[in-house]
Amino acid sequence: AIDFKWIRDNKAAVADNIKNRKSNANLELVLELYERLLSVQKEVERLRAERNVVANKMKGKLEPSERQKLIEEGKNLKEGLVTLEEDLLNLSEELQQEAQRIPNMSHPDVPVGGENCSVLRKMIGNPREFGFPIKDHFQLGKDLDLIDFDAAAEISGSKFYYLKNEAVLLEMALVNWTISQVMRRGFTPLTTPELVRSSVVEKCGFQPRGENTQVYSIEGSDQCLIGTAEIPVGGIHMDSILAESSLPLKYVAFSHCFRTEAGAAGTATRGLYRVHQFSKVEMFILCRPEESDSYHAELIGIEEDLFSSLGFHFKTLDMASEDLGAPAYRKFDVEAWMPGLGRYGEISSASNCTDYQSRRLGIRYRPEASSTNPKKGKGNLSPTQFVHTLNATACAVPRMIICLLENYQQEDGSIVIPEPLRPFTGGLEVITPQS
Ligand code: AMP
Repeated sequence: AIDFKWIRDNKAAVADNIKNRKSNANLELVLELYERLLSVQKEVERLRAERNVVANKMKGKLEPSERQKLIEEGKNLKEGLVTLEEDLLNLSEELQQEAQRIPNMSHPDVPVGGENCSVLRKMIGNPREFGFPIKDHFQLGKDLDLIDFDAAAEISGSKFYYLKNEAVLLEMALVNWTISQVMRRGFTPLTTPELVRSSVVEKCGFQPRGENTQVYSIEGSDQCLIGTAEIPVGGIHMDSILAESSLPLKYVAFSHCFRTEAGAAGTATRGLYRVHQFSKVEMFILCRPEESDSYHAELIGIEEDLFSSLGFHFKTLDMASEDLGAPAYRKFDVEAWMPGLGRYGEISSASNCTDYQSRRLGIRYRPEASSTNPKKGKGNLSPTQFVHTLNATACAVPRMIICLLENYQQEDGSIVIPEPLRPFTGGLEVITPQS
């Protein structure tokens, strides 16, 4: 349920927002389709009313000629209605399709501009000083027999990898440690389907089709591989009305993620930084609208706690308008220091999507009556409202492995495993070279 009336009534603000985000949405076309839809709807209603009048007249006592005339009239009206109802369906589909591209509005504090306009919120720790020549994770992965890119390139293609030996333990440890940490904060754990209907992908604000789509589609079906667990978790409450007392709903979900990385040619490709398939633990919250800003702060706080516990040096950024992605109203990214790559790299992002996804997915709640909110809807029930949704990365494994290998390398070529992960690696403390 996209609020087209609101979009029409706030056209200037919506157009400004589209410009600030460098979005490819076509607002003029959306509004034109909406106006056409309204006028066809009106015409359909008019014809339906006329048809009812004719039907009522037919109930009375009539001359045969008069009855014949009414039958003719009814037939014409019915034919007209069939055509118009078809038009209505087509228009409505076209409108939805175009409107999917309109991005969410932006928080007033979102800096306008490209990546370099993002604002630094926090800086934690310092880059580690190494007293010896360091390697990047690609070299460390090779030397310690932890990652095999060559075999993966043969059997799958570029940007795939096998993890081997202790790297497998590291992936499992990262996932299990993260889930247990987030569960302690009251989140419900989930594993999810990794193939979902393309309509759900769309409703979450991603574009499953088109030249630059990030989404892999399964030929001969209407299903796609998920790019993030946000999609199946967002979908779990699709088309439902939640009790206010059940909110907030907090989930922590493990899934594999699949991305075409279309348009990423030329960006850092060596190693694990940008791959087509990876494991991720994702946090997801559904809450009352007035609480989404504070849950957004909670999510970035959890990320900061997790990355601090692992001893990373990182900064938190309030992302600029062009970098938000369609569903986000505001987005905080964490960029961690990757000494081998010699730069900061994004390891997580936390987005407040307000009602952008819930409107499309049809996730509402019914506020309970209170002194400030007397019941006044149908049957003494208060009217339903859309929930707000938020998502945040707790652990995207490949970039965490980059941080771990590059930051914890020792002069003798070994890698020290940070304390918190050791209970999850079967006690393994150091990854040492074989010979
Ligand atoms: P996003 O859902 O795009 O905000 O991504 C969440 C996190 O997943 C990012 O912060 C990265 O750590 C990780 N990530 C995204 N895309 C890739 C990729 N192609 N390869 C490896 N990690 C990725």
